[in-house]
Amino acid sequence: MNNSRLELVVRNGRLVTPEGVLRADLAVALGRIVKIAPKITDATEAVLDAKGSYVFPGIIDAHVHFNEPGRADWEGLATGSAALAAGGGTAFFDMPLNSEPPVLDAARLREKRALAEEKSCVDFALWGGLVPGNMDKLAGLRDAGAVGLKAFMCNSGIDSFPRVDAAALREGMKRAAKLGMLVAVHAEDDALAAKFTAEQKAKGRINARAWLDSRPVEVELAAIRTALELAGETGCALHIVHVSSPEGIALITEARAQRVDVTAETCPHYLLLNDKDVVRLGAPAKCAPPIRDEKRRISLWQELRAGEIQTVGSDHSPAPPEMKTSKDFFELWGGIGGCQHGFELMFSEVAATADKDLPLLAAVLARNVARRFRLGERKGLIAEGRDADFSLLAFGKEREISADELWTRHRISPYIGRRSRVRVTHTFVRGCAAWSEGRLASPAPKGQFLRPA
Ligand SMILES: [Zn+2]
Repeated sequence: MNNSRLELVVRNGRLVTPEGVLRADLAVALGRIVKIAPKITDATEAVLDAKGSYVFPGIIDAHVHFNEPGRADWEGLATGSAALAAGGGTAFFDMPLNSEPPVLDAARLREKRALAEEKSCVDFALWGGLVPGNMDKLAGLRDAGAVGLKAFMCNSGIDSFPRVDAAALREGMKRAAKLGMLVAVHAEDDALAAKFTAEQKAKGRINARAWLDSRPVEVELAAIRTALELAGETGCALHIVHVSSPEGIALITEARAQRVDVTAETCPHYLLLNDKDVVRLGAPAKCAPPIRDEKRRISLWQELRAGEIQTVGSDHSPAPPEMKTSKDFFELWGGIGGCQHGFELMFSEVAATADKDLPLLAAVLARNVARRFRLGERKGLIAEGRDADFSLLAFGKEREISADELWTRHRISPYIGRRSRVRVTHTFVRGCAAWSEGRLASPAPKGQFLRPA
């Protein structure tokens, strides 16, 4: 630590680790955390007083759709990464679909990587797609550095990204296991979803409640069962994204006990909103699987606290306003723009028990993500030797979240109007400020590509 001058010392913060909260100073040199100690008095280029704030590990959002290339008018890498940084994120994993063409081979992955290296202000990894037609491209995706393979068990809503049936998923998982790749699935049963949708439409129902009724929990559970069975059979590492129900988590927990290599992700919106909110908020709160009832929302927090949910990702999936406007709720684009405020609102939910609960959130938002996706020894923790990826959280007076705060391309969010007790005041990516006191840094940090070790 004596061989380079300190670039930054963060003084008097409450550092959050999965083990607990520690009052200490933190020093940064060459983009890494080089020292954590009760008092750091070494010479430094910059000092930041974090008195009263928590220093939280940089959120690694393993689930976003920034839609570039091809649909940058829906979001894009520059605005998406800026919004994430404003919400405490220091890395994202972009999903292979909604960008056009989707990432189904190495060339498409390299193309997206080059764009993100140019435009993203936070670090990033990239998902490859798993569809019936690209089984011979998976090795190429691995070699190009894909963080895993994403498959849809139901219609994805994107024509260029067809779903896998059980046979195709089995074949893909067999190959992925051989390649040492993880497979993530959107778990909703296609036949059941189609059947319940047809029932609602036959009754002439097209409102938000009808949409919710068309995708009951059993649609999710049926698909989770299939995916778990195939993971057990093939030995493939499985990650079930956006689990919306405690029943889904219970199935995954049971499979883990039987040594299936599976992890569960849920999203802030399932922890913050319920079905009545969907009816009240309309289009901005439409997503699949849908947001459940209040009892299930509370149960998900219990599962999270019990350690049965391994990661939380935003599933940020915005669309232009015209795709979020229709009298027919079934016609609206399903996807929640939530990467800026979702995590902050989770912090706000635990404001009264922050010292106890922030460590838990440090696990599911950072450490566990880095671990599960093998990001190596650089990411996921506030600790000496790690990348200096962290944010400052100020708890205090409640404010109402307004549309003006949004850095996303379209100012659509289910969280507008919601009250928050937390502000993300600063976000640092490898020691460089990306976000500071309500401003995006200029010049912004340059995002680096992350690949599994
Ligand atoms: Zn998604």
